[in-house]
Amino acid sequence: MQPSGKFHLGNYFGALDNWIKLQHEYECIFSIVDLHALTSSYEDTSKIPENIQNMALDWLSAGLDPEKNIIFVQSHVKEHAELHLLLSMITPLAWLERVPTYKDKLQQLGLAGKEINTYGFLGYPELMTADIILYKADTVPVGEDQIPHLELAREITRRFNNLYGPIFPEPQARLSKAPTLPGIDGRKMSKSYGNEISFSATPDEIRARVQMMVTDPQRVKKTDPGHPEVCTVYAFHKIFNPTEVDDIGANCRAGTIGCVACKKRLADRIVEFLADVHVRRQALEKNPGRINEILTDGAERARKLAAATMQEVKQAMHLV
Ligand code: SF4
Repeated sequence: MQPSGKFHLGNYFGALDNWIKLQHEYECIFSIVDLHALTSSYEDTSKIPENIQNMALDWLSAGLDPEKNIIFVQSHVKEHAELHLLLSMITPLAWLERVPTYKDKLQQLGLAGKEINTYGFLGYPELMTADIILYKADTVPVGEDQIPHLELAREITRRFNNLYGPIFPEPQARLSKAPTLPGIDGRKMSKSYGNEISFSATPDEIRARVQMMVTDPQRVKKTDPGHPEVCTVYAFHKIFNPTEVDDIGANCRAGTIGCVACKKRLADRIVEFLADVHVRRQALEKNPGRINEILTDGAERARKLAAATMQEVKQAMHLV
């Protein structure tokens, strides 16, 4: 996950919620991918250290266990960059250019004033492939929007194995079942759209963001019959309020609940949901050296695995 700013609820449900369950089923490796952050934000790197600290805090306060898993920062293990370079030699340009999210993002970020027509941005899935196969990972937890990247990772892996020998397993996707959480304006939740609810938001901040959520635009008065299926607040109720969601939907359609009351009920549920996370976060904040200890230990453990793989890769490519 990129340390590109404050972690939000969309990130949590898109990935972390799933990771917290997977840590009990698999030997997991989780990386804060600071090199990936550079692919779209290379001009001002001053916030990277702070963002890494915050991301580690978010992960640990959400419940990722550093004893069970390897948790580390990508750039602390130089083998990621090394394998990325070697993979870039064998990957046809057309494979990278045809990834559907490439042109979409290029356009979106270009419109936002970012100059990202760079080699690094095009090579993003290449670096992601290196991140995965460096540890010979067989399973990768992904959201649906990352499936094309993983397909490409599998293609690059096959090509490497065909050229130099069967070193890497082809990574399989493990899809997160959680639906995509919309942002408060109804589009996908994203920091670049400014429509997120931060994972570390205070109760007051959560309530203010929920108040700003778009609802059914056809509903003017409380008694107007609503269409919850087009409402952002309702999409959140499905996730944060499963016991009341059917009731809320029926009342909305019948025009017997107002949007203000509906939003208040949602804000209460989100505040409750994040209460335990905040308690863990505060405990970690009182011991700032602990985060560095965890990331240093994680990098050492990751490096051992990565170095062994690179030894095999170099032998296979006659680079030793
Ligand atoms: Fe949305 Fe609730 Fe208003 Fe219905 S009552 S439109 S679900 S906010």
